[in-house]
Amino acid sequence: MGGLSDCAADYNRGMDPTISRVRDLLHQASAAAALTGAGISAESGIQTFRGPGGIWRTYRAENLATPEAFAKDSKLVWEWYNFRRSVIAGVEPNAGHRALAEFERRNNNFTLITQNVDGLHDRAGSRNLLKIHGDIWTLRCTVCARERHDAATPLPELPPRCACGGMERPGVVWFGESLPEEVWINAQRTAGQAQVLLVIGTSAVVYPAASLAALAKRSGAVIVEVNIAETPVSALADYSLRGPAAEILPELLASEIR
Ligand code: NAD
Repeated sequence: MGGLSDCAADYNRGMDPTISRVRDLLHQASAAAALTGAGISAESGIQTFRGPGGIWRTYRAENLATPEAFAKDSKLVWEWYNFRRSVIAGVEPNAGHRALAEFERRNNNFTLITQNVDGLHDRAGSRNLLKIHGDIWTLRCTVCARERHDAATPLPELPPRCACGGMERPGVVWFGESLPEEVWINAQRTAGQAQVLLVIGTSAVVYPAASLAALAKRSGAVIVEVNIAETPVSALADYSLRGPAAEILPELLASEIR
């Protein structure tokens, strides 16, 4: 990041004034961050949790993404994750994911915090990435806790087994579980240090992730929301950009010199 050049000022001319203002803030910030939710993957074809659209079978995702559901019927929960993995494997990162990855390449103090488990930010090229809710492509043994990456779709055996013989579970954070400690501490530090925090495609009702925007605000960050709808973050946002992330982010994060 760094000073705003004349080129940037030229480029911003003729642009939506809010987008232009946020671009200036991003270019002037010494540290910036983004928090993404399911909405950024919506235009890739991945369903969000809370929004219009059908859901797998007659189940509510929230009811399958719990330790209780896994204890009751691990095969059913794995079928749901196997299904989600196959859907995700068949889609591509969109222009919003790519704009964030490209922004990170040009700015060395930019951190992306995601609640998504789909791996689309990785596939788009983001590397300075804090996955606070885990990763659907990671399997974790319920006996020895060993983790491994497995991109097979479908998985050959359900539930999958660890080399130690123990049953594996998806390496994601379920409702009612704690976030991975180190990743969460880093996410809080990132939000606390950011001068600008973009809050993108999240309903901001799942805690503690949703607390990051308020933490950043208390620490003096400018909060910029990118969402098709109003959320609890809208009330504390300095700027609200209403529309699809895949349309707004490429314009917001574009390099000033093309
Ligand atoms: P959510 O489903 O609760 O909310 C989605 C938000 O995205 C809504 O506010 C909606 O208005 C907005 N949105 C929808 N389409 C959009 C678009 N094109 N552009 C911008 N905004 C758009 O999702 P959440 O807030 O991420 O919380 C749900 C939890 O579910 C998270 O913990 C997440 O881990 C998990 N989840 C993950 C995925 C994924 O990995 N892709 C998908 C569903 C749910």
